[in-house]
Amino acid sequence: MESEQPASSRRHRTKEQVTALIRQGPPPTRADLGQVTGLSRSAVAAVVQELLDEGVIEEDLIPPGGRGSGRGRPSAMLVPSTPRGHVVAMDFGHNHVAVAVADAEGHVIAERWTHLDVDGQAQASLDAAVEIVGALLDDAGIAASDIRCAAAGIPAPIDSHTHEIRSMSIMSDWVGVNPQVELSRLLGWRVVVANDADMGAQGELRYGAARGIRDLVYVKLGDGVGASLILQGLPYPGVDGLAGEVGHTQVSDQGDWCRCGNRGCLETVASSTFVHSLMADAGLTPHDDAFPLRDAAEHPAVARFVEESGRTVGRVLADLCNWLNPRGIIIGGELSTVGSPLAEGVRESIRRYTQPAIAQSVEVRIAELGRRSELLGCVAVACRELSYRPWGRPQVLTG
Ligand SMILES: [Zn+2]
Repeated sequence: MESEQPASSRRHRTKEQVTALIRQGPPPTRADLGQVTGLSRSAVAAVVQELLDEGVIEEDLIPPGGRGSGRGRPSAMLVPSTPRGHVVAMDFGHNHVAVAVADAEGHVIAERWTHLDVDGQAQASLDAAVEIVGALLDDAGIAASDIRCAAAGIPAPIDSHTHEIRSMSIMSDWVGVNPQVELSRLLGWRVVVANDADMGAQGELRYGAARGIRDLVYVKLGDGVGASLILQGLPYPGVDGLAGEVGHTQVSDQGDWCRCGNRGCLETVASSTFVHSLMADAGLTPHDDAFPLRDAAEHPAVARFVEESGRTVGRVLADLCNWLNPRGIIIGGELSTVGSPLAEGVRESIRRYTQPAIAQSVEVRIAELGRRSELLGCVAVACRELSYRPWGRPQVLTG
């Protein structure tokens, strides 16, 4: 049975094409668009009107004597709208919710973090985020009606077709939850949702250590372990949006039991949770609550452990480097705030296990945004969304 899909997808493609032409400049008139696209006058007029109504583009009247200002009705050049308003970013970790409000250019105005058992309580976590959003907007004096878009990172595999969380063994309270639908319902705005590591990669691409890199692997070593692949400037989601589930790669047959039900997963030796407990055992108390792991390397035993974690992570990434030949490996998440012992461990394994020519091209960097990579990635993604992008997973943010 034929549906209306072909016509609507053709209209969508036309709209994308016209938007792209206007964004790439020089500013066209309606007549220019007709010539370039071969569309009829009425078709061009309809698409342009739609984009004007959505606020994606604006009209710039041609001054008297300017191009196309001859006879007849004065024509207008079409230019992309300057994004206005504000965006909201929400980063869900396994044990925290962080929220930021930023302007349309991505400057953070207010930010708040709170500790919460996110894994065990899906609805309560979403409600908590919504409550913090309200409080932040009040504090910053920004009206809810001024929010143009929101983005959220979730620490679980998200099906790119249904937007539901797909994980039977991890975060079972979240299985079948659709954070995109739920947050949009609670907040009343358009909300873009992606896996937290994907958001982290976008944060580092726009603001941090991955700027200018087109082929990279971002690994988040937080309470959980996940990764995001950027290949030739584009996120690589896999067929179901589940690429990068590296945390449950088995690194030891005899290792500790993991929350996924397997044993010896990478996550059991390279998550921040484990280093927290080591620090407590060693009698180390954090000096800075915002960066509790920053001083972990002061204790020789903890430093050695972290270096070993780095080597294990590097061993897993070395195989991936042989497959993909990436330029950058960005180590993010809370564990990355320990810094050099971790990076050294990763580099050592890459040097040892990756084919030498490939190892030479890879640069291992610690994320520059620390625990904020994911939150700022949400800011970047929400701002990008304001510029009208058809959205599946986060689009490329490299220059
Ligand atoms: Zn596991």
